[in-house]
Amino acid sequence: MLRIFNIQRYSIHDGSGVRTVVFFKGCPLNCLWCNNPESIDPFPSIMFDERLCRRFEDCIKAGNGKIKSGNNTLFIDRENIQNASSLRDICPSGALSVTGKEVSIQEILREVEKDIHFYRTSGGGVTLSGGEPFAQESDLKELMIELRKKGIHISVETSLHVPWETIEEYDGLVDTFLADLKHTDAEKFGMFTGGNATLVLNNFIKLDEKGSHFIIRVPVIPGFNYSEQELYSIIDFAAGLKNAREINFIPFNSLAKEKYAMLGREYQYGDTGNVNKSDLLRYVEFAGRKGLKAEILN
Ligand code: SF4
Repeated sequence: MLRIFNIQRYSIHDGSGVRTVVFFKGCPLNCLWCNNPESIDPFPSIMFDERLCRRFEDCIKAGNGKIKSGNNTLFIDRENIQNASSLRDICPSGALSVTGKEVSIQEILREVEKDIHFYRTSGGGVTLSGGEPFAQESDLKELMIELRKKGIHISVETSLHVPWETIEEYDGLVDTFLADLKHTDAEKFGMFTGGNATLVLNNFIKLDEKGSHFIIRVPVIPGFNYSEQELYSIIDFAAGLKNAREINFIPFNSLAKEKYAMLGREYQYGDTGNVNKSDLLRYVEFAGRKGLKAEILN
């Protein structure tokens, strides 16, 4: 079984051509700006959208004392709810929902195969995203083997924040790694993501040595890596990889803000400002001079 929280068809921003994106649940990092905060916990997550709540109170009855009302809102003791899935269809208005479930390989294949003709005519395929796909404990390899048997192109969006042995296990199954290069400084990386930059940088070097096809993705985040020195250092690292051909800059946006509230989490990236297009164009130009095909993704 695999843990997912969404399957999105007709995507044109997650790799080449028309793609179906499978979003896996669970991530070893906890980036403060994460656009998919519901992906981080590997287990089902309870989301509550106050705007939709009609005070039906079905959730309070089902919550066994872990969900209470007061001050015109709900208090959800998420830490102590043992089985979030039991609340999945409890709310008639959809204000309280549960995201994330276990699905079989066959269930994913059934969904993915619906667009197989579009993949063939557009040069598309399937993108495994997240969360972190390589953090799945089982069945991921089997899924990729089945996709390959059907001739479906596979891209994986990854933080590369997993042991090299894990990545190596998928060697020959992944067509394109869409790999995040967030920072080159270990201390800054650790402070903002909770992870280990050296692990990521070493995995880039190993992917490069193996000759794997990868596209580098740089989330440009104010307060984290949005300075000339930091972005030049990232571009320099990328340009030093002999098989790196492409680099994509993904400017920060705060669209995920409401999701944090729905998950009962604090959003720490509300007032950090935006990324300036003219700055990005300067980095595109710098990367181009270093021999990289650079693009801004939105
Ligand atoms: S690596 Fe991606 S999915 Fe994981 S926490 Fe960071 S931004 Fe979110």
